[in-house]
Amino acid sequence: MDSSEFRDRGKEMVDYIADYMDTLSLRRVTPEVEPGYLRDLLPSRAPRKGENFTAIMKDIERAIMPGITHWQHPNFHAYFPAGNSYPSILGDMLSAAIGCIGFSWAASPACTELEIITLDWVGKSIISTYGSASECILVALLAARHTAMRQLKNRFPFIEDGLLLSKLVAYSSKLAHSCVEKAGMIGFVKMRQLDVDEKYSLRGQVLDNAIEEDRRLGLIPFFVCGTLGTTACCSFDNIQEIGEVCAKENVWLHVDAAYAGNAMICPEFQHLLKGIENANSLNFNTNKWLQVNFDCSLMWVKDNEALTTALTVDPLYLQHKHGDKAIDFRHWGIPLSRRFRAIKLWFVIRTYGLEGLQHRIREHVRLAKLFKKLVETDDRFEIMGEVTMGLVCFRLQ
Ligand code: PLP
Repeated sequence: MDSSEFRDRGKEMVDYIADYMDTLSLRRVTPEVEPGYLRDLLPSRAPRKGENFTAIMKDIERAIMPGITHWQHPNFHAYFPAGNSYPSILGDMLSAAIGCIGFSWAASPACTELEIITLDWVGKSIISTYGSASECILVALLAARHTAMRQLKNRFPFIEDGLLLSKLVAYSSKLAHSCVEKAGMIGFVKMRQLDVDEKYSLRGQVLDNAIEEDRRLGLIPFFVCGTLGTTACCSFDNIQEIGEVCAKENVWLHVDAAYAGNAMICPEFQHLLKGIENANSLNFNTNKWLQVNFDCSLMWVKDNEALTTALTVDPLYLQHKHGDKAIDFRHWGIPLSRRFRAIKLWFVIRTYGLEGLQHRIREHVRLAKLFKKLVETDDRFEIMGEVTMGLVCFRLQ
């Protein structure tokens, strides 16, 4: 495909996308297909010769769309909201075209600098973009593990790393997302899931008791993941209380605010961050609620050195002459190669402005509260948990 054909096909694709969005509500939300459906519709071998683009596009409606769950459909209410918007799609298109891999400042200066600026716009010192909340939480756990191991090695220089590692223990509530448990698995540390109170919130006393019990057993508490907006019912852990325990016990507190964290751009929700000054790191997914399409998770960390010392490997071929003044995001996460995510975030923030983004969040919360009221008028149902954001949990009485 040359640039002239790209111009034509690109315009067709934009039309296809706009038509798809405009007529989305006419489609079924979930597909009616069985596992393996696509095998019967597509050849079993790759084409030997390149095919015509029209033929490929024909197969989109014939074979692919019948197997798509339409997450952008107005009647899609499963899992969590999948953010999206036209400016975000356009930003992603441009990012794909630029095709840079921004692992260091030198690899593409605007890529790093725009990321710093847009993240500053969202919340001063939010540090970097990631592919998912799971990645943010794993990175925070690895930084905490590294910090704990460094302190332990100073105290016990002759004890094997493996033995020290076997003593580390991390905590979350029972309602934390499964990716927290997975971070523990990957990080090779024990993970305790603690009970919540009647509001589905992890409280300081419960954490304090667990830490005391584990210390008595000779274990070393090093990491707590609190959640603001749990996946199951959008409950909020008591960050104030658990933060105080973490500070007293010298334990890293990470706050997973994957969904609800987006609402913190509205002043009226910021009280939910009470006690955040004791957190070492926090993440939220703009692709959940800030009109940015997947992927774009933001993470903030108090001590970026704890992160970079845990994750820096610096081969000669990646070094450059500005290394001492510029940020190289390859040291802030797991992958070396990084997409230019900031560009879609920049497009979205500039198109809607903070007010536009706040309006969308407030509207979702208003609708959730309205829905709650309607459910309450029907005695067949009861509401479970509190309705703070856009999620309403209800069940048959
Ligand atoms: N944390 C919370 C509270 C979530 O609700 C989710 C996803 O629903 C995640 C983490 C995982 O997010 P990701 O898919 O970006 O890893």
